[in-house]
Order: sequence, then structure tokens, then C-alpha cells
Amino acid sequence: MIVIVGGGQAAAQLVFSLRQGGGQERILLLSEETHLPYQHPPLSKAYLSGAVDRQRLWIRSADFYRDRDIDLRPGQRVVNVDRAALEVHTAAGECFAYDRLALTCGARVRRLAVPGDTLQGVHYLRTLDDADALVHALQDAVNVVVVGGGFLGLEFAAMGTFLGKSVVLLETAAQLIPRVGAACIREFYRARHEQHGVRVHTGVQVAEFAGADGRVREVRCGDGAVHPADVVLVSVGVIPNTELAEAAGLETCNGVLVDAQARSSDPAVVCAGDLAACVQTWAHDTTAAIRLESVQNATDQARTAAATLLGEAPREGTPVPWFWSDQYKLKLQMAGLSGGHDTQVVRGQPDTAAFAVCYFREAQFIAMDSIARPADHAAARKLLARGVALTPEQAADENFALKSLL
Ligand SMILES: Cc1cc2nc3c(=O)[nH]c(=O)nc-3n(C[C@H](O)[C@H](O)[C@H](O)COP(=O)(O)OP(=O)(O)OC[C@H]3O[C@@H](n4cnc5c(N)ncnc54)[C@H](O)[C@@H]3O)c2cc1C
Repeated sequence: MIVIVGGGQAAAQLVFSLRQGGGQERILLLSEETHLPYQHPPLSKAYLSGAVDRQRLWIRSADFYRDRDIDLRPGQRVVNVDRAALEVHTAAGECFAYDRLALTCGARVRRLAVPGDTLQGVHYLRTLDDADALVHALQDAVNVVVVGGGFLGLEFAAMGTFLGKSVVLLETAAQLIPRVGAACIREFYRARHEQHGVRVHTGVQVAEFAGADGRVREVRCGDGAVHPADVVLVSVGVIPNTELAEAAGLETCNGVLVDAQARSSDPAVVCAGDLAACVQTWAHDTTAAIRLESVQNATDQARTAAATLLGEAPREGTPVPWFWSDQYKLKLQMAGLSGGHDTQVVRGQPDTAAFAVCYFREAQFIAMDSIARPADHAAARKLLARGVALTPEQAADENFALKSLL
């Protein structure tokens, strides 16, 4: 029996890959949420405007799990893993035995510890239920304040303006999207948001959410600024759900430590997705385990975990990381990991809103962030995966077709 804890992106891929790979073992999928496993990306994008409906969020239909004999049990929170007895226990008091266990419990939102954080109208966004609450709250809202200028906060700000709201965006760091390596991309997005009417304030700390009758009315900042608010979205990062693994004595470090085969410190336990911390072939520091929060990582790592459970030959290294973000009508695509780069080369003109930044470390091409250049993104992923050399001069020449190197 394979027991999977957590019913999100990684779990859905894991069961698919197990059956696709010929696995006949019984599979029990225990998921805390009451929904079928669903895609998260639309929740901060088209789902908020109604352009994507609920049915399109499900990664697989209910029939898919039934037809493949996958025992999917929504609404089941696992509260304990007993590795000695090879059992998991649920909050409802049930006990299930396993031969192998997969932890795909993901992450939860980091809460902002300031006064007023529990007022009605102060929202966080991780789950479908969170998104439904936001859709409802936005209906009558005039003033929206977004706390946090990462990808999720920016996507929400873009949707807020699309829905006709007055949007203020507050970020503690000096610049938006610190995860992006190139200042020109961070500045491009700031300008784009300001053009759409978002009032962006960087270098500010939220001091308090203030309200009346239990409802938020304004956001007060450390610099004395006060922003009226009917709806606040706090988006200041996530915390991996490591508690089960920690209590079970698995090795953890800001995530469950896994090797390139998705194996935890217990050979009977694999882990994948936002919860897993792994040394990445593509990172600057190849000694430290890191977590990648992306659909690509969840699906690729789940494929690897399935291969491990099926006893397939070990895979070499970790796949090239990639990520995307949709804001307004622009798609930002990231390939590789730009941390530790020493050279940046801009490809194309930022003022055309279709350009890329290529990152190099010791003359080696390591990553690309591109806006509205899907062909360059696709080529970059292949160049990285195949270890094909790209020079800064070739990257800078917009007329040089990257795919000609493949
Ligand atoms: C709003 C939003 C937008 C995003 N947009 C993008 C994007 O544009 N591009 C991109 O690449 N990535 C995006 N991501 C990130 C991506 O969705 C995640 O990296 C991915 O969902 C991680 O998959 P996972 O299976 O590890 O975790 P999840 O999909 O979060 O699934 C974990 C599941 O485990 C359940 N669980 C936790 N603990 C227990 C327990 N004890 N017992 C039972 N069940 C448990 C949770 O309730 C949850 O259902 C976005 C994420 C969010 C929230």
C-alpha cells in the first residue's frame, strides 16, 4: 500500500505517474481539503475575474481516480506518522497502514503579525476556499490594499485593477519581486503596474490593520501613511508544512530534506513539491537544499518520486527549474536559477514589452527571465538541459536565433 498525504499538484502528478508507470499497488490519497486536487495558478489570476470557472481547476476528474483504482479521500487531515509501525493517523481517528509513504503536504501562508490581522476583509490566498472568499469580498470593494510585492501580490494587484478597484501595493523591500535577478525587469513591472493605476509603495512596513465593527477600514504604515481598505490581501510568503515530518523524526531544514530521487531520510518515505527541500543541480550553491515553489517543481519531483517508488533506475540530477507569472496581458517566464550570476545581458528592448535577461556565471549561461518571448524561453530551457554553450554576445543579439544552437 502506498499512502499519499496531501492532495495538491504534486499528489495528482504522483498518482498519475505511478499508474502510467505500471504500478499496481494500492494507492490511498489522504487530502485535508474537501476538493479534488486542483491547480493553484488561476486562483491569483483568471479565477478572480470569473474567466476560469471551477470545473477547469481540477487537475483530473473524479472519474480519473476511480478508473485507476486510486482511493481518494478528501477531508482527511493526517495528524501523525508512526514510522515504526508504518501507520498514519487522521484527525478523524482513523489509522491506515502503509508500505511506502509519500508526503506532499505543500505549504501554508505566512501570516503578518500586526494588530488587526484577524479583522474581516483581511485575506490570505493559498487555497480554493481562500480564492472563493476573495471573489466574494471583491464584489462590493472599492479600495484594495495588497501587502507584499512578490509574484502573487502583483498578480492580484493586476486583477484588482482589471476589476475596476482602486489598488495600493505595499512592499517592505526597496524593490518589487526580489526573486527576479534583474533590476530592469523589476522596474519594468513597477512601471507597468503604475501605468494601470496601482499606487506602489516600496520600503514600507505595515504597522496595523484598523477597522470598525470587526471590519478592516484602513491599513496604517510605519511611516505614518494611512490607506483606506475594504479588502486587504496579505501575500508575504509561505511556510512549508513540515510538522508531520518533524514529529516523525525525518530530517528537515525549511522543508523535508530529499535527495535527487525524492527520497527522504527514511527510504520508505518520499516527498515532493513545496514541502521538499533538495540540493538543486542548477543552483549556485550545490551544497544547500532549497525549496522551489512552482508547478514545474511539484510535477517533476512527483514524477521522480513515482519512479523511485516503482524501483526505476535513478535519475541524473534535478530538472531545469522554470516558472511563469501572468500580469495584465504579459507573461513572464523564468528558466534556470539566476542566483550567483556575475553577468546580465539584455536581449531586446524593455520599452517594447518583449525582452529577456540572460544570466551568466563565470561565462556560463545559467538562467533567463523573459517577457513575451516564449520562443526564447523554450530555447533557454533546452539549452540549459542539454548543457549547450551560449555566449553573452549571442544572447545580446536579438536576431540570433537561440534555437539554432540546439
Ligand atoms: C495563488 C497561487 C498562484 C500560483 N501561481 C503559480 C504560477 O503562476 N506558476 C507556478 O509555477 N506556480 C504557481 N504557484 C505555486 C504552485 O501552485 C505550487 O508550487 C504547487 O501547488 C505546489 O504543489 P504541492 O502539491 O506541493 O502543494 P499544494 O498544491 O499546496 O498541495 C498540498 C495539499 O496538501 C494538503 N495537506 C497539507 N497538510 C496535510 C495533512 N496533514 N493531511 C492531509 N492533507 C494535507 C493541503 O491542504 C493541500 O491541499 C501558485 C500558488 C498559489 C497559491
